[in-house]
Parts: sequence; structure tokens; C-alpha cells
Amino acid sequence: MMKTCMKVKNNYVSINAIFKELGYIVFYNEQKKMIISISKEGNYISHQIGTNVMNINKKNYEFNKSSIFEKGTIMIPTNYIDKVLNLRFKLNESGKDLKTEKNNKSYIFQFIAEPYFNPEKFYQYIKYNKDNELPINEIVIHVNIGLDQPFYTNIKTINDPHNFLVLCNKYRQLPKSFRPLNLVKIPSTYFLGDRDAKIDATALEHLILMRNDAQKKGLELIIVSGYRTNSYQRMLYNNSKETKGIEHADTYSARPGHSEHETGFAIDINSVETTFENTKEFEWLVKNSYKYGYILRYPKGKEHITGYGYEPWHYRFLGILTATAVYKSGLTYDEYYVQNIYKNNYTTNF
Ligand SMILES: [Zn+2]
Repeated sequence: MMKTCMKVKNNYVSINAIFKELGYIVFYNEQKKMIISISKEGNYISHQIGTNVMNINKKNYEFNKSSIFEKGTIMIPTNYIDKVLNLRFKLNESGKDLKTEKNNKSYIFQFIAEPYFNPEKFYQYIKYNKDNELPINEIVIHVNIGLDQPFYTNIKTINDPHNFLVLCNKYRQLPKSFRPLNLVKIPSTYFLGDRDAKIDATALEHLILMRNDAQKKGLELIIVSGYRTNSYQRMLYNNSKETKGIEHADTYSARPGHSEHETGFAIDINSVETTFENTKEFEWLVKNSYKYGYILRYPKGKEHITGYGYEPWHYRFLGILTATAVYKSGLTYDEYYVQNIYKNNYTTNF
């Protein structure tokens, strides 16, 4: 049954060689010790190295011995092979669906060819594409953001909350105990509101430069909101929910742990009214804020991606390099992040 090129050694065989013969694409994550293999028909195999369980098309199969990692190759006991090889002759149900539905053999490989394809989300891509007729690259990006699930579901706790590139949104929550490290007071001369407003020290340095340059053009930038604690955000959200209902609250206010204001890297400028977009100050900010490391975080027409209504007043500090890249890309930070910052650590070269 096996071809001669497969090396068999003490009843172990290289998984790479088998999958290669079958024409599967193999993904490997060294940190997680996970191997995921996908065929063009949509067969899906995942296995954690060092265990004796193999998941084939969502079903777990147990073997009497565990796999091992040896000289850069994953070795599985030979008795795994029959189970794997069977797939060559017997397409699973989802594989059949995929082939006839799209009438395109390479449908699966179109996903795999996407640079931000995450093999762990394979089934989610397929399902999301069933419900949404979008280009494959957008399917991948949307699912990577989490948009295949309603907002505030599948929430992940942010593991790098102090990083100024942190993505904080409706799918990603700051840890309960989180507090920014470098908060400084915003000078009271250009802050309106709470007397004790703070933001991140580097964000403030850039804010001062931005404000001074705006002033030279006769424009006045006043900060109306900066850093918020988790409990303050909770109060704001609950207030909004009680007075205007949950739908309004969830459109314009973040639930506690989910607000960028809690990172220390976000500010609201001049007025939290949409009419702010009709001012010269807004016109200048839209064209120039990135030069000081700030982006308009919740743009018009991107509500379905950011999860927030259009907020012409809300700016997020990302540093000049990233803010410039985001500005030039025309993407929201959610999209930019899953394409350029987040790494899923799967490689096909091993
Ligand atoms: Zn804001």
C-alpha cells in the first residue's frame, strides 16, 4: 500500500512524506506543536505532535502510540496511515458539497493561497463564504477579525495589552487587572472635561506636536476624553444602555474591557457629535493626523468591520510608521492588524 519513497523506521513513518504523496498542503506551528493538513477536496487533518490522537474531518481517532518529532520530521506510527490513506478514495461529505457547490476544484486551494490564511479557521472560512458572497481575500480577513461571529462573541483576552499596536475591539478584551504603564496628565490648557485626564506619555508627545501644528493653521484641538479605567468605562456603557437602550450603547459605546480608551492610546477630539465632521479641524485631522501617529479609528462606511458607528472625533495612537501605513492602506485598524501585525505562526516550509 505504501510507496517505497516513504521511510519506515521502527514502525514510524514521516508524516510529511505521506501528505506530500497525497497532495495535501501541510501547515506546522512549532510553538503549538500542531500539524494541520488540508486536501483540495476539503479533507482536514490536525494532530498535536506527541499525542496519539488524530482529528480527521472533525472526528478524533486514537492510536496506541504517540507521534514523535525526529530530525526535523514528524514521525507517526505506521498504523495511522490506513486511516489517512482512506481519505484518498472516500471523500467526506463536506468535501463533496464544496466541489459541487462551487463547481471549482481549486476552491479550497484559493483559501490556502491567501497570505493570511489560518489553517485553524478553515471550517469558519468555508461556512462564512456559504453565507457571504465576498471575494476570498475578504472572507479570510473578515473571519480572521472574528466577523463570522456576532460582536462580543468568541472574545479573546488580549495578551499584549501594553503594546502600543494593541488591537482592542469587540472580539478582544483587555485583561481585568490591566492598567497602562506610562500614563501622564494631559495639560489642562487643552483638556475639557475631567480634571485628571491622562494618556500614554508617547501618545501625549505626539499629540502636543499635532496640536501645535494645527494651531499654526488657526485650528483649535481640544481633548474631550483620554484614558478611562475599566470601571469608568463600565459606568459610561451602563449609562448609555439605561438611557438609550442596548443597541445604541453597543454602537457608540464600548463594553468595559473593550474600549480603546482603556489602553491609554485613544483620544476624543473637540466634540463627540457627528457634526464635528463639518469643521475645519476635522478636515485637517483626516488629512494630517497620521503624520503624528494618530488614525481615525472608526471611519464612515466601515461600521460592519469596526463594530462602531462613525466617530469623526475618535483617534488612536499607533506611532507614525504604523499610522502612516494604515492611512495609506485605506483599511480599518482591525483589517490592518490581522494582515500585518497578527501572526498565526503556521508555516508550510518545514
Ligand atoms: Zn473615543
